Amino acid sequence: MTREYAGAMAEPTIFERIVAREIPAEIVLEDDEIIAFADIAPKAELHVLVVPKTARYRDVVELAAGDPDLLAAMVRAAKAIALERADGDFRLVFNTGELAGQTVFHVHAHVLAGADLTEESL
Ligand code: C5P
Repeated sequence: MTREYAGAMAEPTIFERIVAREIPAEIVLEDDEIIAFADIAPKAELHVLVVPKTARYRDVVELAAGDPDLLAAMVRAAKAIALERADGDFRLVFNTGELAGQTVFHVHAHVLAGADLTEESL
């Protein structure tokens, strides 16, 4: 066990287990830093989670402070997925904290696209 991040020795997050192929997922994009896969409970025609492979950051605030380039890479990945699988427009959601609905404390972006989302605009 050679994890370097603050959560060393903690239980792996469900997303780390997807990275390790211990839990199946429909992977749509992967590189050295990022994995993206279909959400198992889709809230839009296209609903993909973009997840850094490192579990060092529990939410987008920590990621923005610790590795803004990785955050930018997540946004680029979201755009690439929306272009490849929808019309290029997308909604990017980072639930941040329990009261905002965050259930997995390993930063991830929800990419929602496909059908017209304007009816449900924030
Ligand atoms: O933002 P939040 O933490 O609530 O999002 C977690 C997301 O992870 C949920 O949308 C859930 O459906 C998804 N999930 C998944 N595959 C799993 C476990 C959770 O796509 N194996």
